Amino acid sequence: MIVVMQEGATEEQIQAVIRNLMDQGFDVHRSTGAIQTVLGGVGAKTEFDTRVVELMEGVQEVHPVVAPYKLASRHFRPEGTVVDLGRGVKVGGKQVVVMAGPCSVEGMQQMEAIADVVSKQGVRVMRGGAFKPRTSPYSFQGLGQKGLEIFRQVADRYNMLVVSEIMDQTQIPLMLEYADVLQVGARNMQNYNLLRELGKVSKPVLLKRGIAATIEELLLSAEYIMSGGNYNVILCERGIRTFESYTRNTLDVSAIPVIQKLSHLPIIADPSHATGRRDKVLPMARAAVAAGADGILVEVHHDPDRALSDGPQALFPEQFERLMKQLRVIAEAVERSI
Ligand code: PEP
Ligand code: MN
Repeated sequence: MIVVMQEGATEEQIQAVIRNLMDQGFDVHRSTGAIQTVLGGVGAKTEFDTRVVELMEGVQEVHPVVAPYKLASRHFRPEGTVVDLGRGVKVGGKQVVVMAGPCSVEGMQQMEAIADVVSKQGVRVMRGGAFKPRTSPYSFQGLGQKGLEIFRQVADRYNMLVVSEIMDQTQIPLMLEYADVLQVGARNMQNYNLLRELGKVSKPVLLKRGIAATIEELLLSAEYIMSGGNYNVILCERGIRTFESYTRNTLDVSAIPVIQKLSHLPIIADPSHATGRRDKVLPMARAAVAAGADGILVEVHHDPDRALSDGPQALFPEQFERLMKQLRVIAEAVERSI
C-alpha cells in the first residue's frame, strides 16, 4: 500500500500513520520528497480497508498497490529517483550518464589505455569486470582482487568512478572496498540471496535484466534490494533472448519507456551485450537515448582484437568518439544532456 501525505503534513501526523501501519503488520518504507512524504507499506494483510488510513490527519491519498512490487513502483516516488554515484555523478536526472570501458579488467596497461580514451570524451564512470560470469568455465574468468586494485588505481588517476560486477554475496566486502557501483549481471538477476544482501549496503547497485526475464521480474528483483533498505538501484536493459539469432540478444528498447511508467528507478541501456556486434552498438545506443534512457553502459577497448572477453562487441576508440558526438545531439533533442 502507498500512502501519500499532504503537502505540509507534520512530522507527528506522519509518525502517527507509520505507527498505524506498523500496528497492522506492515513494514514501512518512507520516502521524503521535496514537497511530499510517501509511505510504502509492505507485507501484512492481503485485505485492508484503506479508509482506516485515508481518514487520518495529514493523509492525502492511499493506493492499494496491485503490482506485486511496491517500493520499486512509480507510485512510491512519483517524482522519480536520482541515484548519486559520488563525485557529482547522478543517474536519473537531466544528464544521460555514459559508463564505458572494457568487458574485463585485463591489466594495468590496458586499463590505462582505455581510461585515456573514455575520459577524453568526458566519461566519469568506467566499467570493467574483475569477476566474469563466462558461459564456459575454460574462458578467462577475470583477474579478481588484483583486477579491482588495478581498476581503482586507474579510475582514481582519471577521476572516474568504478562500476564492476559482483557475482555472489561473499564478494560484498571486497567490492565495497574497490567499486563505487556494484553491478549485478543478467545471470544473477534472480540470485535472491545476493539481492537480499545488497539490500543491506548503501552503495548503488546496477541491476541488469536477466536474459529471459520479464519487466515485472526485473522490478521484483529490484524490490528485493529495496526491501532491505537500499534504494540506490539503477536498472539496465541489456537485451533479452528471442528467436532472432543474428544479434547476440534483442535490445528491448520499449522496456525503457515501459519501466519509466511503472517504476521511479533510473533505467539505462547496454547496447554492447544486447547486440554482441560492434557495428550494431552505435545505432542501438542512439535508439536507447532517443527512447529516454538515463544512461548507457558500453564496452570500449583500445585493441578489441586482443581483448580477453567480448572483443567483437567492443568499440574502437574512434567509434566511441563518434558515438559520444552523436549521443550529445540526440540527448539535446530529448531535452537531456551528456
Ligand atoms: C558485463 O556487463 O560484462 C556482463 C557480463 O553483462 P551481462 O550480465 O549483461 O551479460
Ligand atoms: Mn562483456
